Amino acid sequence: MGNLEQHYVKEAFDTNWIAPLGPNVTGFESDIANYLGDQVLATALSSGTAAIHLGLLMLGVSHGDEVMCQSFTFSASANPITYLGARPIFIDSERDTWNLSPELLETAITERIQKGKKPKAIVAVHLYGMPYKVDEIHEIALKYEIPVLEDSAEALGSSYYERKCGTFGDIAVLSFNGNKIITTSGGGALISKNKDYTEKALFLATQSRENEVHYEHEEIGFNYRMSNVVAGIGRGQMRVLEDRVHARRRNFQFYKDELSSHPDIIFLNEIPGNYSNRWLSCILTPSFEVRERIRMALLDQNIESRPLWKPMHEQPVFKENLAYVNGVSLDLFQRGLCLPSGSNLEKEHLERITFILKQILS
Ligand SMILES: *Cc1c(COP(=O)(O)O)cnc(C)c1O
Repeated sequence: MGNLEQHYVKEAFDTNWIAPLGPNVTGFESDIANYLGDQVLATALSSGTAAIHLGLLMLGVSHGDEVMCQSFTFSASANPITYLGARPIFIDSERDTWNLSPELLETAITERIQKGKKPKAIVAVHLYGMPYKVDEIHEIALKYEIPVLEDSAEALGSSYYERKCGTFGDIAVLSFNGNKIITTSGGGALISKNKDYTEKALFLATQSRENEVHYEHEEIGFNYRMSNVVAGIGRGQMRVLEDRVHARRRNFQFYKDELSSHPDIIFLNEIPGNYSNRWLSCILTPSFEVRERIRMALLDQNIESRPLWKPMHEQPVFKENLAYVNGVSLDLFQRGLCLPSGSNLEKEHLERITFILKQILS
């Protein structure tokens, strides 16, 4: 936490705004929108998952539909597709950003169209804060007229040619879960330039209550609005976001500098235009065995590290789902490791970690 979170939370208590509405919620929404720029609007919700759910609903995804979804991601990118009775079709990654492969995406779209099943939406993810290939992906989306839900849950503070992640999709999603670069303990936001989407999201998230004195409902609603108490945390966190991004990028640069003499260790570099918040610092090792040796050596010293995300097409829960696969994400999962990445890591921590890695590698 920074210094101002308690101030905003106290204000919520002092003014008795302990509800899923109030000045912190609207204040947080305008803080987010102003930060992202490009005239986007924000609706604060109870989680990123809720934002994906409402986003897909508004993009018209419904029972029996197919949605193209990046396979290399956290399950929350895909789960809401199934809440709507639709089916995720998983698309593997490319090597440059570890995100959605434009080639496979186009192959998948044309094949499904030939089968008479035009995909309803594309879920593209800026994984670990690294922007996906924005131009390529959105060109394909435009060509086939399929809307994009931009999962920017891990990428607040990242940008592509000076434009912030969270401004590219027809609808974009942020998360303020406890593990993200800034947090409200739990929370999310739906972002769009289209006011119809952000207003409709607010309506759906507050039980679809019509504008009447009594409770009138013409549609099924949800209880997905962010509370005014946690929005206070969010307002304070927005003030330290840039510091957090710098701290995370510093972690990454330290690891990279220290380990650059070991050509076996591969870092994910930024392609032209990409600026990553480096939410997590990840490495690729030569093999599963080396990955595990490093992980266990760190664990021996009570230092937690974790394999990269296991691709969705390899998850038991999605084993029946169609997938367009090139082996990239499975390889990343087997050889990759997320190193300690907290914004509060100090130089001596980072030195201890790289010391252990160097011992294993020599
Ligand atoms: C965290 C995360 C989400 C979900 O956000 P919650 O706020 O935890 O519901 C969605 N997608 C990705 C890629 C995430 O990392």
